Amino acid sequence: MPHPESWLQPRPEGLYCEPGDFFVDPVRAVARAVVTHAHSDHARPGHGEVLASPETLALMRARMGEDAFAAGTPLGWGERRRIGDAELFLQPAGHVLGSAQVAMTVQGSRAVVSGDYKRTPDPTTRGFVPIACDVFVTEATFALPVFHHPPPEAEIRKLLDSVALFPGRTHVVGCYALGKCQRLIALLRRAGWQAPIYLHGALLPLCRLYEAHGVALGELRPATMAARGELAGRIVLAPPGAIADRWARRLADPVVCLASGWMRVRQRAKSRGVELPLVISDHADWDELLATIAEVGAPEVWVTHGREDALIRALALRGVRGRALRLVGYGDEDDDSPAPVVAPEARADAEA
Ligand SMILES: [Zn+2]
Ligand SMILES: [Zn+2]
Repeated sequence: MPHPESWLQPRPEGLYCEPGDFFVDPVRAVARAVVTHAHSDHARPGHGEVLASPETLALMRARMGEDAFAAGTPLGWGERRRIGDAELFLQPAGHVLGSAQVAMTVQGSRAVVSGDYKRTPDPTTRGFVPIACDVFVTEATFALPVFHHPPPEAEIRKLLDSVALFPGRTHVVGCYALGKCQRLIALLRRAGWQAPIYLHGALLPLCRLYEAHGVALGELRPATMAARGELAGRIVLAPPGAIADRWARRLADPVVCLASGWMRVRQRAKSRGVELPLVISDHADWDELLATIAEVGAPEVWVTHGREDALIRALALRGVRGRALRLVGYGDEDDDSPAPVVAPEARADAEA
């Protein structure tokens, strides 16, 4: 049985499966790409053929236009596809709508690329399905013991308690357009918030796409159309870059909130002027990473975008061989907002 190292290699474009002649989540345009999910650091424009879940293909078209790629090949969950000498299938990753893990098998040896993932149930996406493998390729966005995500329901409760406490103020919540926004809305609905939720214009199109894929979000209204005074006591969602700028200033005495795994770092919330940090993440935290790696049972783990070293040390103590892939081009957070990026300063914060 050949070791995955002999047929799956990091290249400047991304991870390359030689027997199948395709890349997984390439950061440059290639002839054939398998894409785990539609966040902009994983799904780039300009590929020839893209193999992905139907939801990911739809999201890529919605974000990058109909000519985002030349040809899209949808793959159903668990559907086996032979490409060259590799066999391929997808299983859910629990990260955002359509997010997949890519399982590749070559002569009986299997590697699984998880893309980004989380294990906490999320009403807007299918739950992560563990796949036994010889090499597991994991993200490491929150791979430090300090990162422990509280239950999202408790964070939503904090938000609703604050709304009840300040009925004259508008709560404006910063969140990314793909995934976090829709998850927050779904969590608010589950917590009993049935009032209309107001959205910054940048967030509306993907909410409509989620709804078209069967995710109910309740009544959504564009915040810009709201009459004067209408937003007092309401919840408004906006991209992280908009919550502290001119756009938010016309809201009624806004309470600035931000929903991100980075809100675990107090200094980060403070430096962004966030009054109510909500620790809600679409990435696995430290315990979830270790539990997932134990569950898939891979003797070897390759680590991408994040704090590789801490995770690799922890794995060594558990008898698992770790390897830092050091692929370039993946973000720390799924930041696709037009405004300032979280990544570099967040990295510094987490290490402080
Ligand atoms: Zn992502
Ligand atoms: Zn990512």
